[in-house]
Amino acid sequence: MCSARDQQQHRKRSHARTLPLLLLVACHYDVGQADSAFYNWDDRKVHCAIDIDTYARIDNASIDTGLDRARDRGEVLELYNHDPGVTIQEDVIEHVLAGAQSRGLSFVTYADMANGVRPAGGGLAYSFDDAYVKQWVALRPLFQQYGARITFFIAFWDQLSAVDRASLHDLAADGHDIEAHTAKHYRGPVYVEQRGLGAYMSDEVQPSIDHLRDDGFTISAFAYPYGARTDETDRAILERVPILRSVAYTWDSPATDPCPND
Ligand SMILES: [Zn+2]
Repeated sequence: MCSARDQQQHRKRSHARTLPLLLLVACHYDVGQADSAFYNWDDRKVHCAIDIDTYARIDNASIDTGLDRARDRGEVLELYNHDPGVTIQEDVIEHVLAGAQSRGLSFVTYADMANGVRPAGGGLAYSFDDAYVKQWVALRPLFQQYGARITFFIAFWDQLSAVDRASLHDLAADGHDIEAHTAKHYRGPVYVEQRGLGAYMSDEVQPSIDHLRDDGFTISAFAYPYGARTDETDRAILERVPILRSVAYTWDSPATDPCPND
């Protein structure tokens, strides 16, 4: 993580144009400056969230700038992560939840955004991706403590145990939102290039929606693995679900930022 002093030095150095831009971006990603990760209830269909997993190197102070902006401007900040205890530590999750609560932010799910369920004031749309159901369920008390409502984007549904599948219903009963995130987590544009859009839709997108719908969930959103998308995949998937989630920032390759809203 970068200290305030580092930041100051970076500013000086970047002002002198001696610091490579990539290093600057990798070290300091200011969540509050990431315009595309703030939803202001405009008509966008492709949302973009910031990955706060440990490897993304976004510290709590940076997250705080985002929560402050959501409060100050009445916007919804979109954040996501994956596997509690592995890719994201529980104390960071709690920092986010407590930070939202202390600022009076509402927890907004992707179903809320798809349905225009707009709270008064700012909000936080916080999502957890893939298939770490046991780890998510273990956090139910923490979520309840902060009145949190989380969106879980599910991939690999066919590999979930019966217990895990039942747990998704427990999470939904707590007020969380269960949404689709492909069948096998392939990178969409690559899959389309190799096998065609029709195959991507029938192999990856539609099964992930159908499994959850068949299990009784209402599906309002689809999250792209790696945020990887094209206008063509957007058009096709938006015929099946109201909104999509991409990624606002990729710390390891910012030159290929997939978000269309920048
Ligand atoms: Zn994923």
